[in-house]
Amino acid sequence: MARESIPEPDQPGYPPVLIPEVAVRRRVRELGRGIARAHDARKQDDAQLVLLGVLNGAFMFTADLVRAIDRPAIVDFIRARSYGAARASSGTVTLELPPELDLAGKHVLVVEDVLDTGRTLGAIRDRLAASGAAVIEAVTLLRKPKATVGAEYIGFEIDDRFVVGYGLDEAGRWRHLPYVGYLDDDVR
Ligand code: 5GP
Ligand code: MG
Repeated sequence: MARESIPEPDQPGYPPVLIPEVAVRRRVRELGRGIARAHDARKQDDAQLVLLGVLNGAFMFTADLVRAIDRPAIVDFIRARSYGAARASSGTVTLELPPELDLAGKHVLVVEDVLDTGRTLGAIRDRLAASGAAVIEAVTLLRKPKATVGAEYIGFEIDDRFVVGYGLDEAGRWRHLPYVGYLDDDVR
């Protein structure tokens, strides 16, 4: 069975579990249903739903979420860089948007992995403000306490610790984990 080949959480050398795979799955389904309901309620304006995943961290969340929303949607990605290999924000955010992206009249949902300071989402919202989108909303899987920019949908409120897994990395590692784990300062 494929499931058995996935590394068990709490295996030696693996990041300890913060949010187990089953909890992530359940919450993503709930978020998807809520987003679908809200989108359906706006049916009168007939706006096309566009998911804009924030690369790289939100690739897995975006893929699961669009299936949980279960509505026709355009899926595209923004590349945002505010972290290098370090665990602290560099403070500047660079954005790359798809050149052909036309958001005029659309219902845009920015899909973010984690809000730390919220600077990345703030920069994205600023950039999209002039796009002509009918609705701009954001969903984040995780939100840390110091985030100053909000998201309409939040998966989990977490403590201020460095998390990996379910798309999130540390210097390229751990993105493949099906759960959200955390790194203590002594774990590399
Ligand atoms: P912010 O701009 O909100 O401070 O940071 C947002 C970005 O920093 C996130 O999209 C994510 O890429 C990265 N980030 C923030 N906290 C963490 C964390 O705990 N783990 C990982 N892997 N990335 C994080
Ligand atoms: Mg991100």
